[in-house]
Amino acid sequence: SMASPALLMRVVASAYSVAEKAATIVRNVMAAGDLAIVEKTGANDLQTKADRLVQMSICASLARKFPKVTIIGEEELTTDEVTEELIEDGHCEEILKRTCPAQYTGIKEEELVIWVDPLDGTKEYTEGLLDHVTVLIGIAYGGKAIAGVINQPYYNYEAGADAVLGRTIWGVLGIGAFGFQLTEAPAGKHIIITTRSHSSTLVNECISALNPDSVIRVGGAGNKVIQLIEGKASAYVFASPGCKKWDTCAPEAILHAVGGKITDIHGNSFQYNKEVKHMNSAGVLATLRNYDYYASRIPNTVKQSLMP
Ligand code: AMP
Ligand code: MG
Ligand code: MG
Repeated sequence: SMASPALLMRVVASAYSVAEKAATIVRNVMAAGDLAIVEKTGANDLQTKADRLVQMSICASLARKFPKVTIIGEEELTTDEVTEELIEDGHCEEILKRTCPAQYTGIKEEELVIWVDPLDGTKEYTEGLLDHVTVLIGIAYGGKAIAGVINQPYYNYEAGADAVLGRTIWGVLGIGAFGFQLTEAPAGKHIIITTRSHSSTLVNECISALNPDSVIRVGGAGNKVIQLIEGKASAYVFASPGCKKWDTCAPEAILHAVGGKITDIHGNSFQYNKEVKHMNSAGVLATLRNYDYYASRIPNTVKQSLMP
């Protein structure tokens, strides 16, 4: 008989289905019309009913199947009562059939850390910019982001009623990333993608110094990395603290699985072990190609303002 699939592939296969359930919750909460918004640190740092329900759904569903895995979610929840209707126990068969890269076949549950952003782009979700929203499930081992799932609940929402709404992108280092069409950004153009709702003088100073042909301002770390791998932008530049480990883990795994690179603004890689500080204090620099072009042009004054 066939050997049972490696733990990593079972986790990714389950995370895929859990993220699809999450997307349904995101759409249902919006359709019901009561977002029940709570301000966390201020008016640009929000939590909605969808952020809360989705985190409960993802964390409880994965914890039930993989009880020894460390799961770290963005939201601080006041209740751990999870109703059975929030639990997803399915998995993606196609992912289970893929061969686990040899270096990951021996991973044990207690060695995995899952970083969960139940709803990335909450500010934009509350403003009706629905395609900025993603659900992020990042999987780390040995401090590195090695696999990830990104669901975009409102992918295609402006494409008309015939278009399939929503999509799930997944990736594993050594296998690749799937669920989208890898596309190169226009050759010779410097298209920078950055924050829409968390700008600052430093964020803008850094972008100006890179002398871009154009700048795209949209919400979500997941959304911005998707735009890199689909060739809509050539570099994601965010010279500011604010982005956290759950924002970057899943996007990092998917970007690295297709040969891209993400670091802080100094060029340091992110660490994802369970003890790590959550804040990416020294910002974000990510590209699919030509990382060195952008990294070498970040001004020293900007670097000096952002300590890791
Ligand atoms: P953005 O590009 O503004 O959508 O930010 C990407 C991710 O980092 C989102 O999850 C934001 O909520 C988070 N983020 C960035 N800057 C801040 C900030 N100043 N305060 C709170 N969250 C932030
Ligand atoms: Mg986020
Ligand atoms: Mg979030």
